[in-house]
Amino acid sequence: MDIAHGSRHEAEMIDPFGRSIEYLRVSVTDRCDFRCTYCMAEDMTFLPKKDLLSLEELDRLCTAFVEKGVRKLRLTGGEPLVRKNVMHLVRQLSRHLDSGALKELTLTTNGSQLSRFAAELADCGVRRINVSIDTLDPGKFRTITRWGDLSRVLEGLEAAQAAGIAIKINAVALKGFNDEEIPDLLRWANGRGMDLTVIETMPMGEIDADRTDQYMPLSLLRARLEQQFTLNDIPYRTGGPARYVQVAETGGRLGFITPMTHNFCESCNRVRLTCTGTLYMCLGQEDAADLRAPLRASEGNDLLSQAIDEAIGRKPKGHDFVIDRRTNRPSVPRHMSVTGG
Ligand code: SAM
Ligand code: SF4
Repeated sequence: MDIAHGSRHEAEMIDPFGRSIEYLRVSVTDRCDFRCTYCMAEDMTFLPKKDLLSLEELDRLCTAFVEKGVRKLRLTGGEPLVRKNVMHLVRQLSRHLDSGALKELTLTTNGSQLSRFAAELADCGVRRINVSIDTLDPGKFRTITRWGDLSRVLEGLEAAQAAGIAIKINAVALKGFNDEEIPDLLRWANGRGMDLTVIETMPMGEIDADRTDQYMPLSLLRARLEQQFTLNDIPYRTGGPARYVQVAETGGRLGFITPMTHNFCESCNRVRLTCTGTLYMCLGQEDAADLRAPLRASEGNDLLSQAIDEAIGRKPKGHDFVIDRRTNRPSVPRHMSVTGG
């Protein structure tokens, strides 16, 4: 079928709960040049390089999803911009933007490599990106990322804005670390024309810290922010799970991602692919489908397409994340960097 002009109805993937799956997130590498304390342990064992899909295989897989109705593709990781030759993949995928089959190609990045790649990303049709910054204090930034340099990230932001890319800042709200700083982060981001989204920390993978100490319910954060700001709920959506408010005092937007206090599984439209070709139908469940074997089994896409249909047919209703003192094990053993945030 000509995916640019073919019937959308034909290409739709519908899961058992009637949700249309239009959004694919791809973790192009589980490696990273940072070690954020809530995301990774300092000493990580990464996937063996030999298990990685090549960039050509990743392109083939993404293309199969686009042909099956995916309209939005997000590259993530690990840090997507540390994967060797990743721009080759971005350039390849941009043909689906040109054809009109894909509505949006985007990425989530820690920003460390952005100044190098911003212009090329824009040239490939990337219009919006998410950059993760949890604090604007260089010392605290180094503490939370273990290895990160805030000034490089800020240079990256400037390069992306100069290239015409819209930026959303992601911050994980961490009790006693940056919760007091969120008002400043909000004024800073909105003051530079960037949205800010705050995220509840999720119990994924073993880390060195205790998540119960870090966990900050966003209902509490919102109540605190409302003492300083007028937050008006708005229907704005970007295809992700964030719920947005317009901030009267800054004129900008603030998003809340609340997997713990209020999950939005009923409207989940996405699945996640790892760099080894494993498809996770839910961030918070272990069930997964291996797409690497059907991908490699033949040059045609029939087996792959069948495997994708079977996987979508098993998409669960939702996750069961819990963070409390009795449950001090992660809800899922894999780190966020494997499936991509
Ligand atoms: N390296 C890129 C980055 O940091 O933006 C992309 C991958 S990172 C895993 C994607 C997002 O997940 C980041 O915004 C990060 O802060 C968030 N994240 C990582 N671990 C998390 C956790 N346990 N709970 C909630 N968010 C997490
Ligand atoms: Fe790397 Fe992103 Fe995880 Fe931080 S949150 S360690 S930048 S993958």
